[in-house]
Amino acid sequence: MEYSGAGAGIVGCPDCGTRQRLPAAVRSTVVRCITCDGTLERTQGRSLSASLACSLAIVLLLVPANLSMFLRTDALGVSRSSHLGSAASAMLTEGWPWLALVVFLFVVLFPIVRFGLLTAVLGLLELGRVEPWMGRAFRWSNRLETWAMPEVFLLGLAVAYARLTDSIAVRVGPGAVTFIAAGVLALVVRATLDKAAVWARIAPDAEVADPAHAIECQDCDLLLPAHHEGRGCPRCAAPVRHRKPQSISRTIALTSAALLLYIPANLYPLATLPINYKPTKYTVLEGVIDLAQAGLWDLAILVFCASFLIPFLKLVGLTWCVVSVLRRSDRHLVAKARTYRVVEEIGRWSMVDPFVIGAFVPVMNYNALIYGRAEAASVPFTAVVVLTIISAKTFDPRLMWDAARRRV
Ligand SMILES: [Zn+2]
Ligand SMILES: [Zn+2]
Repeated sequence: MEYSGAGAGIVGCPDCGTRQRLPAAVRSTVVRCITCDGTLERTQGRSLSASLACSLAIVLLLVPANLSMFLRTDALGVSRSSHLGSAASAMLTEGWPWLALVVFLFVVLFPIVRFGLLTAVLGLLELGRVEPWMGRAFRWSNRLETWAMPEVFLLGLAVAYARLTDSIAVRVGPGAVTFIAAGVLALVVRATLDKAAVWARIAPDAEVADPAHAIECQDCDLLLPAHHEGRGCPRCAAPVRHRKPQSISRTIALTSAALLLYIPANLYPLATLPINYKPTKYTVLEGVIDLAQAGLWDLAILVFCASFLIPFLKLVGLTWCVVSVLRRSDRHLVAKARTYRVVEEIGRWSMVDPFVIGAFVPVMNYNALIYGRAEAASVPFTAVVVLTIISAKTFDPRLMWDAARRRV
């Protein structure tokens, strides 16, 4: 393969740490790591103008999404309506402050901050301007990519709608319509945003004299001389570390906590929803069975995967990766790296069930028979999802390769 000569273009794989030079002609293609097969650079289908247009549209759509009527239900000649933020306030008044906080952060606040920062950075780049704060702003926008969950909330909304529309008249308001549009555009931004290109325009990669001993910024992939260890990255201001600090002990602590909470999360009921004018408590698996019995097989399979299978596979996958480091295993490293990437990517979709509750509790309280509320398992369940997302982030997959190299 033809490689470019001097200058920038040397990258360290974020999954295994292997230093390699990117091929010169990478436009319209995907470059994979020579060691672990992870994606180093993807330019296919990427466009900064498309990302900017979608991001700006999301910011504009989030205004009516947050301010207009979201859902309306009609039963017994009375109606109830909600706003996006009322999911959080309803949880708070019902005595679930942690759920209220999670819904407020993931659905209301983080999408506004993420797409506000992204629009500012991409907009200024489009105008040919670079300001000193843009590296920091783009880093925070990227960090919030996992935690801003408009598209996951949409799935929750769809599930809740399908379950309740038989027994209660549910109307989707302009707030929900604009939020649906914002959620779809958020998926387009994920697909079109070329982060490497944005970083290169904020500050170009620099040549490092000794790439073999250089360290790499985890946030913006900038390669720096080894003496930058512990100091701030000149491009994005994140603290630069050779490896994530206390990665293994933190991942073990978080994964163990999630593993313990996984038991009550599945044993106790998650919520009560009025199904056919009857308050019905359901656990994660009972919810899946209800959906299947109602003939909603596609949603049943989806919720089974999101709420039961994904948390379980995440716990097993992370344990496999941690054990690999502790035992200095050199077996199946590529498979482990792939597992880790999947675990990191899909974890946020497990928030569907808490969002089902969040979407409908505010419009469900009519009388002693028709009401919806969160139940005991909702807090441990949400905690499992949040803890596994954080533990996937604290784990440093490069340690598996370090440990395997130490073996010989
Ligand atoms: Zn790699
Ligand atoms: Zn950086």
